Amino acid sequence: MYLKRLEMENFKSFKGEVVVPYERGFTAITGPNGSGKSNCGDAIQFVLGYKSAKDVRASNVLDLLFNGGKNNKPAKFCKVSLIFDNPEDSDGSRRLKIDADEVHFTRTVRKTRSGSASSNYYLNGTSCRKRDVTDVFLGTGLGPRSYAIIEQGMISQ
Ligand code: ATP
Ligand code: MG
Repeated sequence: MYLKRLEMENFKSFKGEVVVPYERGFTAITGPNGSGKSNCGDAIQFVLGYKSAKDVRASNVLDLLFNGGKNNKPAKFCKVSLIFDNPEDSDGSRRLKIDADEVHFTRTVRKTRSGSASSNYYLNGTSCRKRDVTDVFLGTGLGPRSYAIIEQGMISQ
């Protein structure tokens, strides 16, 4: 089981759709300061279900919508999907207890007319609770606060 693709739409600095293919052999994203490297990690934690928006360097979930910068309109909707490879082991079991070779976890946020945020989670395209996403990762070692994700500054801390 491994994360093979990250798909983002209007998440933080990423305008429109952006796909990061974390295929086998992938080691690093490089780029200048402020180019969105850490935002990719934030996108992963966004889907896994962080405890506080501060964990993804935002004061509130609406700060995660692409803000339009200087030349574009601010987005009213954002969507991030994590696509995991989930093959059958030799004994027929799978690391993620979902009977599919590929598992898609998706979270969306919509800014409502009244200006509040509406958040939804999906498992392989079907609407689910945040709790259902957490449950699938139980026992795999992956979660928003697990050592599978080491943030900038955490190593020296
Ligand atoms: P460094 O090398 O300094 O760690 P980085 O590549 O990790 O940089 P990020 O922290 O991922 O950079 O990206 C920061 C950029 O994301 C900033 O330019 C910030 O303005 C932009 N950004 C953050 N939130 C939003 C948003 N909601 N809409 C548009 N841009 C955003
Ligand atoms: Mg960074």
